[in-house]
Amino acid sequence: MPSAIEQLRDAIAGAQTIVISGHKGPDGDCIGAALALRHGLKSIGKEVTVFSNDEVPKIVRFLDPGGSVIHLATESDAERAGQGQWDLGILVDVGFTQRAGRAEPALLSAETLAVIDHHEIGPEASGEIRIIDPSASATCFILSKIFRDIGLSVDKNAATCLLTGIVTDTGSFRFRNTDEESLAEASELIRLGADLPRISEEVWDSRPMSAIRLLQKAFYNLKLLSGNRLAVTHLGLEDFVDAKDEDSEGIASEIARIEGVLVAAVFREPHSERVRVSVRSRGDIDIAEVCRKFGGGGHKNAAGCTLTVGVLAAMERVIPELERCLESS
Ligand code: AMP
Ligand code: MN
Ligand code: MN
Repeated sequence: MPSAIEQLRDAIAGAQTIVISGHKGPDGDCIGAALALRHGLKSIGKEVTVFSNDEVPKIVRFLDPGGSVIHLATESDAERAGQGQWDLGILVDVGFTQRAGRAEPALLSAETLAVIDHHEIGPEASGEIRIIDPSASATCFILSKIFRDIGLSVDKNAATCLLTGIVTDTGSFRFRNTDEESLAEASELIRLGADLPRISEEVWDSRPMSAIRLLQKAFYNLKLLSGNRLAVTHLGLEDFVDAKDEDSEGIASEIARIEGVLVAAVFREPHSERVRVSVRSRGDIDIAEVCRKFGGGGHKNAAGCTLTVGVLAAMERVIPELERCLESS
């Protein structure tokens, strides 16, 4: 039985048209992975299409100056994309095609589907080829090694894409998922020409004022519960009149920085009755388990879920579970 990497290598060799997507609400890791794959696969003559359920977030738009990522904005876009007859589909940074949203029909129409991911997902993951390593700091970290293993060249652009995923998912090498291997891989990517100063500038130091205003409101609404060990805040529908969902990226990590806080959660309702919850924890506290109870998931220390209720109702449901999780750990 060939290994998953060998299966992927053979699937790529046998494919001419390849479709790639990451998850809904894309981040630096999934866009970085998709675009790195696009660079690498195009360099060996493949026809590559990258779809996204949502627009590429501003912090990583510099990775795609030509606007090659196709935003599937409507259901009819999704349907049309699903009519393409792709030889190979590659899902990155998520284990289930369903979380690719409107890119799902295109992935499902592919003759073979590969999944490259670093989430804890269990045996029911999508795809015939699965390269899934929950111990990896980022999908881009896994992918960087795959490029080497299957002999795909990493040019400067691909190196910058891959390093962006590692940088965003490790919070610039601050989060606990930062390990020796990620630092070594990052170092190798810099050797290959990845532009770390540019990544830092675009990802961390170019925040739109609309994002800072959301952060301001999030701090205003901040409450400490469970003996100051649980930090919770929320942003309501009215806070998103002049802001986008992506502007709230990073607030959970910001709240989690408070001394003594072990669990931090941000509830936000960018669209009516669709509340996205981002949770962060320290040490051995597994909040992915809590998020899974609400149909979400993620990693032990960084997870999320989406509830189809108003923001206050979502808080009423999730906060007691977070408190319980804190008490039992
Ligand atoms: P975020 O808080 O959006 O940065 O997400 C943190 C982690 O939780 C990421 O690894 C996501 O993949 C995961 N996650 C967030 N929202 C969901 C969701 N609705 N379902 C499954 N996983 C999620
Ligand atoms: Mn991601
Ligand atoms: Mn990731």
